[in-house]
Amino acid sequence: MKDIFKLLKDIKTPAYVIDEARLRSNCEILADVERRSGAKILLAQKAFSAFATYPLISKYISGATSSGLFEARLAHEEMKGQNHVFSPAYSDEEMTELCQICDHIIFNSLSQLEHHRAKWSLSNASVGLRLNPEHSTQEGHEMYDPCAPTSRLGIKQHNMTVHLPKGVEGLHIHTLCEQMVEPLIETVEVLEKKFATLLHEAKWLNLGGGHHITKDGYNIEKLVALIVRLRQTYNLEIYLEPGEAVALDAGYLATKVMDIVDNEIPILILDTSATCHMPDVLEMPYRPPLFNCGEVGEKPFNYCLASRTCLAGDVIGTYSFDQKPEVGDMLIFGDMAIYSMVKNNTFNGMPLPDIVLLKENNTCEIVKSFGYKDFKERLS
Ligand SMILES: *Cc1c(COP(=O)(O)O)cnc(C)c1O
Repeated sequence: MKDIFKLLKDIKTPAYVIDEARLRSNCEILADVERRSGAKILLAQKAFSAFATYPLISKYISGATSSGLFEARLAHEEMKGQNHVFSPAYSDEEMTELCQICDHIIFNSLSQLEHHRAKWSLSNASVGLRLNPEHSTQEGHEMYDPCAPTSRLGIKQHNMTVHLPKGVEGLHIHTLCEQMVEPLIETVEVLEKKFATLLHEAKWLNLGGGHHITKDGYNIEKLVALIVRLRQTYNLEIYLEPGEAVALDAGYLATKVMDIVDNEIPILILDTSATCHMPDVLEMPYRPPLFNCGEVGEKPFNYCLASRTCLAGDVIGTYSFDQKPEVGDMLIFGDMAIYSMVKNNTFNGMPLPDIVLLKENNTCEIVKSFGYKDFKERLS
């Protein structure tokens, strides 16, 4: 195990650090899934869009998928391979450009499909429809469940035609979030029951994201078997579009202690912020791993980690330390490549963290630094 504190000791904080070796090892796993299953895997850019790493990623997987025009443009400019897009709604101007730069365009409703028919039917893009199989596999997690009641995402069986509308070649589902293979297998079985005719007519099926393929314990054999079965049964091209799995555990957020105050528990004031730099900590919510530190009470010294913004709730959590931390110490959060850089903001005028690449030769390269201009230019 490399000494991450030593490798990062000279970088300016706060900084997101992308660990190239770990990114590559995730990509190797995904490339192996592509090779053995015959599926094509796309990076869901909404999770991770650090395009400095796209040349590396595109050596292993088949392309990228986008949540709208800007991500699609980014993939078109920076990623080799296929470019897919899904959005619940596209404007007319967006559709004109998407038809020129996307290989697949996925619509969320029959009305959007028809609204844009004149444009997509004249383009080279292959068009698909997102279905809602109405099969929730996550409990108490409505925020991340496209099958939740009243969801706007995907066409339900009773709103869908029996046959594919003219010109439509593909089907798309996305119903999982950080899940192992079993919920996917279940979901596909429901899909087959409800939409068998469409599956036989379609050329491709996109199984969305939320597959935790690169997490320890994910049953890749079962995933490969499922894909092979679908390809053979329905003569389909299969796509997977994971975001998380591509850059899982492939990044850090390095921060420094700026002050220590006390209110029943000692509190570290950091140069980073949950709400600005890792909003999912508050939104999901979740507790990010912190290197060399433990759960409350696990190690001798407990500290609450908080930000220097004025938001009272801008608190990351309480962690325990072997030694009392001091002002100036560096702390390193783990798993900070995904849903971090893509979601950050400058609330409170907080400076944005630099983006640093930890290369495979163990040197650090600053890919991007941000300053006052990045704050000001978004405001008027
Ligand atoms: C969010 C999303 C993904 C990626 O999900 P991960 O959980 O990051 O794997 C893929 N496809 C669609 C349509 C999404 O909305």
